Order: sequence, then C-alpha cells, then structure tokens
Amino acid sequence: MVQDHGFYLDGKWVDPKGRKRFETSNPATGETLATFPLGTKDDVAAAAKAAKAAFDKWKKTPPPRRGELLLEAARIFRKRKEDLGRLVTAEMGKVIAEGLGDVQEAIDFFEYAAGEGRRMVGETVPSELPNKMCLTIRMPVGPVGLITPWNFPIAIPSWKSGAALIAGCPIVFKPSSLTPLCGAKFVEVLDESGFPPGVVNLLTGNGSVVGDGIVAHPSVRAVSFTGGIDTGKNVYEAAAKKMIKVGLELGGKNAILAMDDASLDLLMDGVMFGAFGTAGQRCTAASRLIVHAKVYDQVVDELVARAEKLRVGDPMNPKTDMGPVASADQEKKVLEYIHVGVKEGDELLAGGEKLTGGSYDKGFFIQPTIFKVDRTSRLATEEIFGPVLSVLKAKDYDDAVSIANSVKYGLSSSIYTNDLRLAFRAMNDLEAGITYVNAPTIGAEVQLPFGGIKETGPTDTREAGSTALEEFTYWKTVYVDYSGRLQKAQIDTQRIVGG
Ligand code: NDP
Repeated sequence: MVQDHGFYLDGKWVDPKGRKRFETSNPATGETLATFPLGTKDDVAAAAKAAKAAFDKWKKTPPPRRGELLLEAARIFRKRKEDLGRLVTAEMGKVIAEGLGDVQEAIDFFEYAAGEGRRMVGETVPSELPNKMCLTIRMPVGPVGLITPWNFPIAIPSWKSGAALIAGCPIVFKPSSLTPLCGAKFVEVLDESGFPPGVVNLLTGNGSVVGDGIVAHPSVRAVSFTGGIDTGKNVYEAAAKKMIKVGLELGGKNAILAMDDASLDLLMDGVMFGAFGTAGQRCTAASRLIVHAKVYDQVVDELVARAEKLRVGDPMNPKTDMGPVASADQEKKVLEYIHVGVKEGDELLAGGEKLTGGSYDKGFFIQPTIFKVDRTSRLATEEIFGPVLSVLKAKDYDDAVSIANSVKYGLSSSIYTNDLRLAFRAMNDLEAGITYVNAPTIGAEVQLPFGGIKETGPTDTREAGSTALEEFTYWKTVYVDYSGRLQKAQIDTQRIVGG
C-alpha cells in the first residue's frame, strides 16, 4: 500500500496543506512506495526556526546524556534492522545483504558516536605564566543542515546526524528525493528514541528548493553534503557566501592496482565486489582496475569469466549478486557512458546492455560491464556511478600509480600485492583519502575517518571516526588565570619559579 508521509518538524509529524507531492518507487519493480510533500522555502524557515529554538537546551545537555539517546536509537535500529534493510533494498535497489549492511552501519555509528559523548577530548596545555591553566573545549556550531544522497539512504544520514547530535547541534535533514521513505523511517527511529522537539527536523522536496534553502538559511551554521560534484560545487559556493563550515563528499574514480605478484583469486573476489557491489553506485566503487602488464591478459580473461557469472535480478533474493541501478536517470546516465566508451573506441569485454524481458522490463537492470580503456578516455577519468569497470594496463608499479593519480577525484584506492615494500609505498604514493591493501576500494568501517582529497573533498573534512565531530564543532580556547594579578603573556618573560 502506498504510504503518504509529511515532514517531521519540532517533534511532530506534519503534512502542511497545499504542497505538491512527489512519489518514490521501487527501481526493481516500478511499484510506487510512498508520496511526500515538496517542501518550500517557508518549510525550510519553519525547520530552521525549530532547530534554532532547540539549540540552547540541546547544547547545555551534557554530552553523555545526549549519548544515551543515541544508544537508544542504536537499540531501535537493531530491533528494526530486518524491516529497514528490506526497505533500503525496496527503495534503492541494492541487494538485501547490502540493505541490511546499510542499517548495520547506522547501528555501529550511533553506538560509536554515543561513546564520543564521554570522550570529546580537548587539550590541556601548560601556560608560559605561573598559576594559569590553558585548555580547549569543543563547542557545537549551532543548527546544521544535512543533505544526503540515495546510495546509502540509512547509513549516510546516520553518519551525519550521529556526529551532529552528539556534538550538540540540532539538525535539519533533507534526504535524496529518490529515497525519502528511508529518510522518514530513519527519523521515525530518532523520534522514538526521545530526542527533544526541534533537535531533529526532516524536510523532503527538490534539492534546488529545499537543499538550497537549507544551505542559504541564516540560522543554519554548518552543512554536511554528500552527492555529485556539480551540486557539491553549488553547496560549497553558497556556504562560502555565508562563511559557514561545510563538509563535502563528492564521489570518486577509485582504482585498484593489481601487481604482478597479486593473489589472483583474492584479486578477483575484491574486484567483483568493489566494481559491481551496489551496482557500482558507491562513491568508493572500484571503477578502474590498473593491471601490471605481466599479468594483464590473464587478469582480463579471468575478469570476463567472473563478470559473466554474476547473477543480476531481484535484489530481495539472497542469491542475487547485483540488483538494478537506482532510477531511470541513473540507468540513462550509465547507458550513455557505455555508448561513449563504444564510440571512443574502448574495447567492450563484457556486458554493455540493458537487461530486458520478463521481470527485467519493470526495473532498471544493466549487465555488469567491462571495458579495456586507454588512460585518457572518458571512461578512465569520469565518475560513472554504475556497474561499469574500466581496465587499464600499466608498465610497472610507478606507471600504475601515475595512472591512478591522474584523475580529479581522490577518495579511495587499493593495491593488491604480496610485496610488503610496494604495499607501504602505495600507502604514501596514492593520492586518496583511503588506501586498502589486498582489499577492494569499498568497505569503510565507522570507527575510522572517511573522506577524500582533491575535488572529492575540497574542504578536507572527514566523516566518522575520531574526526567526525570536526564538521559540527569549533574549538574554544580557555585561559584560566588563578594568580590573582594581571599577568602578561609575551611581556612577563622573566624566569620565575613558583608563583
Ligand atoms: P545530487 O548531488 O544531485 O543529490 C544529492 C543530494 O543533494 C540530494 O539530496 C539532492 O536533492 C540534493 N540537492 C540537489 N540539488 C541541490 C542544491 N542545489 N542545493 C542543495 N542540495 C541539492 O546527486 P544525484 O542524486 O542527482 O546523483 C547524480 C550523480 O551524483 C550520480 O550519478 C553520482 O555520480 C553522484 N553521486 C555521488 C554520491 C556520492 O556518494 N558521493 C551519491 C549520489 C550521487 P534531490 O534528490 O531532491 O535532487
């Protein structure tokens, strides 16, 4: 049955009158799942007002108490994991094991962030003057905007909101218009966890209205955005105009380097998962495989054999390896890239077609596709965000690194080798925020920082891990002088012992 949803504002579900509505549907079956209101700038103002009003009390709530609510949310996510995981698969199209993994990431991160409430460490450093103490404290920036994509519709909101909430920042959250139902169910969990009114707010609607409105609203003091590079540039510019903090995670063109001593089976398992997991729609997806010339032919033959065995179909079936891509637009974009590859003379090794017939006709299914490409071709340099792997030949390790680093993105990277020296060199040489050794480019864990460099992450923020709070806090430096007299730093320079 189609569910009609509203916004979540100031602790209540509301469905304002007169808003146009939009639908969300299942990319495997075409079934309509839910309808949502298209938010307006007035709705953004209402959400920002609620968040601003909630800020003072939330900021003053001791972080360990905030953490208790995050732990409660983690407990509810765990209880609802099966239902939410199935919803992720239904609304976004990733296979069910990955749908459940999306929810697991929320459980993991909320538990991790709850613990941050009892750490939130600052520094205590000596003063140059006697009877004086110097320390730093983390302060929440204020209400924050969270704008999320569709590819991790529970996990990415959890990274952003978990960090913002434990930091003491009320949130105005706008999920992707492809996955608002996951966004609403995510907020249902936060509602049930007992966050005070105004601390959590959800709006749905067009990015160009609601997303843009959130970034521009004067009460919103930081924005965390994950999505495409063009949108990210707009968000960056708008945030700069307001001089506010902005965290950007804008995708990648991630490479796996396969050296001539790599274990072939391990490499193949990694490449299949890295390139075709989530139908290639992860910002960390392995979209390039750069292979040492000595093993190139062997690797290519094995790749094609493996790709042809992948089972593409119903993502709810646990035996399926790859589901549909997330939308008609995604399908169009990926098929256009395949067309570009063929037109530019890249050699198509496997796949390359939309799957049709029977239940395929209801959804957006594309074959796992592999091209042999030249290092300057568009398939070798542009983010495709779909099940298309580009294979390149490298003369040696240095050549492989130079190809890997030749793109504008810098998110994830990987090297398969049994040579310890090459593994350690790659950790230093690969221009990326993340490097894996003998594992594919995907598989981030929540207790470590996540993010990229170059155009992937121009603001150099890192989500998750010990750096998660940076996006939402500033440092307050505190000097406590208990000498009882005026002491002048840099001026009272005599060497005094004691006070
Ligand atoms: P977008 O970057 O357009 O969307 C991401 C989020 O930003 C959505 O919530 C979107 O809302 C919102 N948004 C759109 N326009 C604005 C705006 N002007 N100001 C503020 N927020 C805005 O990505 P798409 O979903 O359209 O996907 C396009 C491409 O982006 C993909 O093919 C892929 O290449 C890349 N991408 C990268 C991701 C990553 O993980 N880094 C994730 C998803 C996509 P709405 O949905 O309403 O438009």
